[in-house]
Amino acid sequence: MTASTSTFRAIDVIRKKRDGVELSAAEIEGLVNAYTKGDIPDYQVSAWLMAVVLKGMTRPETAALTDAMLHSGDVLDLSSLPAKKVDKHSTGGVGDKTSLVLAPLAAAAGLAVPMISGRGLGHTGGTLDKLEAIPGFNVNLPVADFRRVLATCGCCMIGQTAEIAPADRKLYALRDVTGTVESPYLICASIMSKKLAEGIDALVLDVKTGSGAFMKNEKDAAFLAELMVETGERMGKQVVALITDMDQPIGKMIGNALEVIECIEVLQGKGPEDLRELCLELAGWMLQLGGASKSVAEGKQQSAKLISSGQALEKFRQMIELQGGDPRIIDDSKRLPQAQHTLEIAGTKAGYIASMQCEQIGTACVILGGGRERKEDSVDPSVGIVLHKKVGDHIAVGEPLATIHYNSEAKAARAQQLIEASCEIAQEAPPKRPLVHRTIGKVESKSAEKN
Ligand code: URA
Repeated sequence: MTASTSTFRAIDVIRKKRDGVELSAAEIEGLVNAYTKGDIPDYQVSAWLMAVVLKGMTRPETAALTDAMLHSGDVLDLSSLPAKKVDKHSTGGVGDKTSLVLAPLAAAAGLAVPMISGRGLGHTGGTLDKLEAIPGFNVNLPVADFRRVLATCGCCMIGQTAEIAPADRKLYALRDVTGTVESPYLICASIMSKKLAEGIDALVLDVKTGSGAFMKNEKDAAFLAELMVETGERMGKQVVALITDMDQPIGKMIGNALEVIECIEVLQGKGPEDLRELCLELAGWMLQLGGASKSVAEGKQQSAKLISSGQALEKFRQMIELQGGDPRIIDDSKRLPQAQHTLEIAGTKAGYIASMQCEQIGTACVILGGGRERKEDSVDPSVGIVLHKKVGDHIAVGEPLATIHYNSEAKAARAQQLIEASCEIAQEAPPKRPLVHRTIGKVESKSAEKN
């Protein structure tokens, strides 16, 4: 079938967008609804998505797309829960695993975190794929169970259901494999439709910039951040966006099960400095927006205490158990899926790591099987990369640069090539890039005063 409901013709909407003509809210709604119901095929929507990538969208079109996607399913009413509902969402990165730390951490501070996440997209990893590395963990809870887990432990992490933002679930999977991820309008509508359907009061957005982000430069990241903050505020939510660095992977581990291990380390008060610092920064904002702390600085301190006291880790354990997962992975990481082989990549030139082509490292993980090449693909939770060196570190010839965890020799060889090619070695250490580049949102000045 190539087209249409009685008044709506997909081909007309595709042509209009291709020719740069502004679409009406009714046309956008028609397309989203028809696709969600299965009335128009993937190839027509792919063509439309590509036209959006190339021609962009006006603010009214972006608002209409977000609204249509939001109302493609239910909008949760969580007003019966006394706690403030706060969430965070990232625009996507490599080794970007903060959600697994932040949900239990903010819940331990007394907030409710109703987190609806996505799967890996392009070269970036996805929260759902990471959670599914935990044996038994169910990300497909019906809404009634989602509410029950949330009321019991203060956080619950699921994917889009048939009830919540189903349009995003379908569009997200299609964009992933049609080269149509990198549009600020599509990213905004995708993220905000999911987040606004959650029944939240406040949202912290982690907008990535750098070689591993969809928005490679800060100007584009700021544009996306402003678009999302404006969309959230239009719906009466408190929203802040942090533009954070994605010029190299976050932490040292990339790959689903490996990233779960690194999150547990952070919740145990260990883990790599950059990941820990980013988690504390984002948690500080979540606590401040949710009223659990007076300022971001106080929120950070409180979060550090919730980690050192073990309360945040206990919340993670409780959430895993309530969602059907095996909580024993916390004390015994061997219970997580393990790749059959490892391969160490050694430095071939002495010097400092001047830069890492972060997207290539993400792609190396996808090639290993840690992400999807086609929409139908399943991911291999056990594979991934452990970095032994990060940007600014010194490396000697023969010293370990990274370890590949793999199940296929051919894939490991391709991943090795990409990782080697992605690291530039120089005789001097590069200047350090800040972890947080900027903060965008009206709340900024208010909390900056308090800091
Ligand atoms: N994350 C999302 O949820 N959607 C996008 O489009 C990109 C990143």
